Amino acid sequence: EGVLYVVATPIGNLEDLSARAARVLSEVDRIAAEDTRHTQRLLRHLGIERPLVSLHEHNEAARAEWLRERLAAGEQLALVSDAGTPLISDPGFVLVRELRRSGFRVVPVPGACALVAALSVAGLPTDRFLFEGFLPAKSTARRRQLEADAERTETRVFYESPHRIRDLLADLEATLGARRVVLARELTKTFETLLEGTPGELLARMAEDPDQTRGEFVVMVAGAAAAELAADAAEGEALIAAMLA
Ligand code: SAM
Repeated sequence: EGVLYVVATPIGNLEDLSARAARVLSEVDRIAAEDTRHTQRLLRHLGIERPLVSLHEHNEAARAEWLRERLAAGEQLALVSDAGTPLISDPGFVLVRELRRSGFRVVPVPGACALVAALSVAGLPTDRFLFEGFLPAKSTARRRQLEADAERTETRVFYESPHRIRDLLADLEATLGARRVVLARELTKTFETLLEGTPGELLARMAEDPDQTRGEFVVMVAGAAAAELAADAAEGEALIAAMLA
């Protein structure tokens, strides 16, 4: 009976690949990878040789059908992305949905995920959070989304690339003002850095030291403070009371 293993790979430090992940990758008949050349390097490092097949956003539907046939023929498959956990801002959703609909077993092999790693060290509330992945590329659409959730009290989490990190901070400043932001950069890698401040302070820091704009980022934004919302409500009530007096 065919099985799909959804395997997390490191987000930087290769030691974060679990022993189970290495075993599963060495045992499956085939590995579906977002970028086969990238995954080939990881497999070479692990001394694993397995057939690879590409699965990315542009061929996912067609590949899902082909892989479903492989599973029906009894193959064991693994799905990996370039870094971290597949399906989390990465390909795989269509494949997993189709295979589950067809009744195949889909098994997680958990491991690194930038979102969870970042939250685990930020010191922002994690009891509830809102993962928003990558915001739209256009500034107007980005600001609209930032504003739409401005009153949410959960910690908000975004993924961002180095070429847009300053734009995102500027948009955060324009929409949320002096909210507390924690930037987790290059997690598990040589230049791992956590920076914390208001968007304005972080922009100033980047102007001073452009190295701070390099690499990959998880951007975490404090939710609207309960106290702040209560103050707004109290102000509203006071206003109404004054109007009625
Ligand atoms: N599936 C991945 C995961 O489990 O985290 C995420 C893939 S997404 C295409 C890539 C984004 O994840 C980057 O732009 C960055 O926002 C974040 N990311 C990945 N690795 C990171 C790292 N080492 N440090 C900080 N952020 C990282």
